[in-house]
Amino acid sequence: MRIAKSQYDHGYHFSRGEEGKISDTGTFDFLVSENADGVPFQLIFGQQIGEGIYLNTGAGVRQLLGISPEDFTEKTFHDMIEEIVPLSDDIPADLLISRRKFINGEIKNYRAEILVKLPGGGKKWILDTSVPMIDDKTGMITGAMGILYDDTTRKHILEKLIEVRNKADDNESLKAAFLHNISHEIRTPLNAIVGFSTLLDEYPDSPEKRREYLDIISRSSDHLMEIVDDIVEISKIEAKTVRISREKVNINNLLSTVYDQYRFLASEKRVVFNYVIIPGGSDPCIYTDSYKVTQILKNLVSNALKFTSEGRVEFGYNVKEKYIEFHVSDTGIGIPTEQQANIFTRFYQGDSTSKRNYGGTGLGLAISKAYIELLGGDILFTSRQGEGSVFRFTVPDERVGE
Ligand code: ADP
Repeated sequence: MRIAKSQYDHGYHFSRGEEGKISDTGTFDFLVSENADGVPFQLIFGQQIGEGIYLNTGAGVRQLLGISPEDFTEKTFHDMIEEIVPLSDDIPADLLISRRKFINGEIKNYRAEILVKLPGGGKKWILDTSVPMIDDKTGMITGAMGILYDDTTRKHILEKLIEVRNKADDNESLKAAFLHNISHEIRTPLNAIVGFSTLLDEYPDSPEKRREYLDIISRSSDHLMEIVDDIVEISKIEAKTVRISREKVNINNLLSTVYDQYRFLASEKRVVFNYVIIPGGSDPCIYTDSYKVTQILKNLVSNALKFTSEGRVEFGYNVKEKYIEFHVSDTGIGIPTEQQANIFTRFYQGDSTSKRNYGGTGLGLAISKAYIELLGGDILFTSRQGEGSVFRFTVPDERVGE
């Protein structure tokens, strides 16, 4: 830290109560700390705003504003100003009004962020902090003295913080929506389980009714388990405790397992449903995490079926350089362009109509994306509202026996 002492003896002193040192003679001795970013200045006001002169401006003004201390006038400075953001409620953004208040003694400590256009191009945020200078003879405020700081870094950090806070707020509202949604999602199968279990007792002599109810209970239990599994899984992903366990996986078998799990649902919905394997008897086996790849495919296929009421759902894979690329396509409702950026965000579920009509937790794609990244692959999709969607994801082609 360097201590700068004013050479300027003009019969001024600081407004009382402010930082600084009033000399015995009432002259203008002051202590201003000039750190790496701070440039001390004294401004003697002119008749009009912009006609003032700067005295004893620190040499650092050259680095700060690209102007030599000699060329630094109030006019030069004002011509550079693009925006003023006062840092206190009693300071007006308008220069004329704030100057009037400053001279009246209403502003004891001027603090504002000022965006300036630099002579060499580019812009910079400056922090201007100044206090009034009082003429000993007249007792009038006739100038200001203070320090100009480079505020770009601070401003940048602040903006980043605001961005992070806004994201956190978004997350909070997503979480709140999720909790609301999840309690509904859990309650629906739970109510079915409780309700139909009670009804079972009422039909001791009707095997058909009992079978029907048992079927509903069993499906509701499965659904409830899926929801709970998703919540546990996303918590593990967030806690970064998910591990990959590689084993030999036969891709055609994996596709066939997924197909078997969904073909009844597809036929109930009357949607054409099929999977395609590479023709020519190719039967690749790779080392990967069988459970996770199956889960990803199941998430994508179940979404495809959920959001498709007519047409077809198809899935399969291709061998691409060092990757196996899986794909799931549908002719369903598609994803509106404005929602596309958000669909991998956890808890996100399109609009409220979509939530009501299709259920779900908004976790499937977030979990899938996290799994794919852990496996070393990538996920992409194309979609058109009203026409359908195609999701593609890759996993490294670590071939067994090659
Ligand atoms: P969930 O399906 O439980 O709502 P996901 O994370 O799987 O959650 O999907 C998030 C959102 O992305 C869905 O709510 C839906 O709006 C959209 N979406 C995902 N897949 C499809 C699809 N195949 N067709 C249309 N919209 C989809």
